[in-house]
Amino acid sequence: MSGKAILVAGGAGFLGARLCEKLLARGDHITCLDNFQTGRLEAIDHLIRHKNFKILRQSVTEPVTGEFDEIFNLASPASPPQYQRDPIGTFTTNVLGTLALLKYATEKGAKILQASTSEVYGDPLVHPQTETYFGNVNCTGVRACYDEGKRGAEALIYDFHRVHRTNSRVARIFNTYGPGMDPDDGRVVSNFIVQALRGSDITIDGDGCQTRSFCYRDDLVDGLICLMDAQGPCSEPINLGNPNEMRVKDLAHLILRLTGSKSVLTFRDAARDDPKQRCPDISRAKSILNWQPSTPLEEGLIKTINYFEGKVGRALSELAGQL
Ligand code: NAD
Ligand code: UDP
Repeated sequence: MSGKAILVAGGAGFLGARLCEKLLARGDHITCLDNFQTGRLEAIDHLIRHKNFKILRQSVTEPVTGEFDEIFNLASPASPPQYQRDPIGTFTTNVLGTLALLKYATEKGAKILQASTSEVYGDPLVHPQTETYFGNVNCTGVRACYDEGKRGAEALIYDFHRVHRTNSRVARIFNTYGPGMDPDDGRVVSNFIVQALRGSDITIDGDGCQTRSFCYRDDLVDGLICLMDAQGPCSEPINLGNPNEMRVKDLAHLILRLTGSKSVLTFRDAARDDPKQRCPDISRAKSILNWQPSTPLEEGLIKTINYFEGKVGRALSELAGQL
């Protein structure tokens, strides 16, 4: 068989679907494991008839069967409203799911990449965030199911590496957006674009001065593939993201300008335990992987807006205003 046999857990999600697409395009054989909690058949519809693509509908916490050279573990809801809907499920997916895949990888000698998150830094007191920062996470709060779930998963990865020499790598992913997002996902970029296109109010949490740094989907997926392909052991986590930091309210204004929408900003209560600032230090990714994002924010947002226009259309009132 030419190409590698690769398991993509969470392969029907926003990032997973794009990853499957890119790996298939280079000749790999892909099994997409997903329980479709936040993933959608629609996201992988165009891959289903590909001869090298299979779907395994199950939870990542269940034992895996089959023969794989590599495993990407992206299985976990990522949007705060989605991961807080079933917090116990989120925690167990991250910890028990990673444990199940680590056991498989160790037994079969497969390589495993864990999709971790900037949330391991919590509400960070070090800015920008370097991988050596231990973080500031509220372990009793509403985000803990995700943050501590991801931290627990990282702890398991490094213990398996120390105890069994499991060939693993960890990507700490910062906010990523792009075509393929679910319009109802609840994250800030998709919410603001959909609201702008529908002509409804743009919902700003808190005063909108909290910051995030937004990375375009394709840059991020390329980073994941670079990290998996990197030779030798990767015994330390690597931040993947775009250091282009901005305030949430500035993102809202930018989206209003790019869509030409007349929507107005409304301010609601801040989300609980919401990190006030977030920006990756990507020096490690640059030096170890020779990777950095290349898509400017406006260019990525325009592609994302075009995608959402195809999904949700544009409100008639907005269109009328432009005639
Ligand atoms: P997503 O919600 O679109 O995709 C997650 C996928 O995992 C979905 O297909 C979902 O059905 C699947 N899944 C959830 N629980 C599962 C389970 N128990 N068993 C099998 N499949 C399960 O999210 P995404 O944005 O594509 O994120 C992918 C990964 O990257 C996640 O692990 C997330 O934590 C991580 N990440 C993403 C971002 C981002 O900005 N997109 C940032 C940091 C980390
Ligand atoms: N946010 C917002 N309005 C929304 C959705 C999100 O103001 O409709 C804010 C949210 O409170 C946070 C930031 O945007 O401060 C990023 O939120 P997101 O859910 O995208 O991801 P997070 O980085 O918090 O995991």
